[in-house]
Amino acid sequence: MGFWMLLIYLVITFSILFILLCISPHGSGPIAATSRVFFVHIPNWSYSLTIKLLGVEGTARFKYYAMYIFTEPNPFFQMVYLALSIGGYTIYYIYGFPYIPNPYVQEFHIYIGSFLYFIALLTFISASIVSPCIIDKQNLKYHLELFPYDNILYKPSDCSACKIQKPARSKHCSICKFCIGKQDHHCIWINQCVGYSNYKYFLAFILSHSLICFYAGQVGIMILIYIIQNDKLLSVVFIDKLGNEVKGSWIVIFQYMLQRLPSFVFVIILCLIMGLTLGGFFVYHLFMAGQNVTSNERIKMMKLEDNGKNRVNVYNLGFWKNINEVLDAVEF
Ligand SMILES: [Zn+2]
Ligand SMILES: [Zn+2]
Repeated sequence: MGFWMLLIYLVITFSILFILLCISPHGSGPIAATSRVFFVHIPNWSYSLTIKLLGVEGTARFKYYAMYIFTEPNPFFQMVYLALSIGGYTIYYIYGFPYIPNPYVQEFHIYIGSFLYFIALLTFISASIVSPCIIDKQNLKYHLELFPYDNILYKPSDCSACKIQKPARSKHCSICKFCIGKQDHHCIWINQCVGYSNYKYFLAFILSHSLICFYAGQVGIMILIYIIQNDKLLSVVFIDKLGNEVKGSWIVIFQYMLQRLPSFVFVIILCLIMGLTLGGFFVYHLFMAGQNVTSNERIKMMKLEDNGKNRVNVYNLGFWKNINEVLDAVEF
């Protein structure tokens, strides 16, 4: 039962990730149509629902704040991250740590888990504060020489906002309001772009969070198993709301644990979901970095392919050299 649930969950998660990250909503066929559900239909349905719930004026105000959160530099999602992250650790500290050590989880897991969490926090801070690579008049020459124009995705042109020549692989970010070197995407969680200089910190950020979420999820499950074994919940008879006697099956025990330790069980499930999602996201970014393609270029290439055109990636130096380029990037 558990294995099949996990398999179904894995298939659904990676299918959604694949559709969101790799399939253009502009194409034809059933997968592009599914992509349109996420990028076109769900936003349209959400808009109609908001009009019904908040009215026209309320929707306009809601839209204004939503636009501000998503289109202006602001720390909203960094605060959300910190609340989730510190809150999650605190819940482990209060509800999980008192059950350690036990026959399934030795004491050192408290220290390794806390250390990994600290590392994950550091990667979040690094990815948030290391500049993505803002191009200005002082470093423009360096960036113009860094990558050649491929004359397909990048041709010599000026940025009308920054009033400078746009180096190949750079993109003007409408949120950061600067041209960013080797721009990958604007990340709301770190409140800035992911670009040439901070890409390695971004990779460390998603990798460390995938690992700590998996680790915490596994430790959490082992703690729950210990409680189930220690309290002999599998042989206990439960009384439901109607007063009927119910034998301790896994479903019944799960419902019981959800009532006994709701926040702890919720955080364990969240950790497992985030561990898988971020792990998939890391593998996707490693694959892209290995090919020396940015997320921005990936989108542009999909549009080219939709129009039946192909492009040779002149920036691809081979897997290890590409990875080395990411790790060796100078900070600006
Ligand atoms: Zn610009
Ligand atoms: Zn940006």
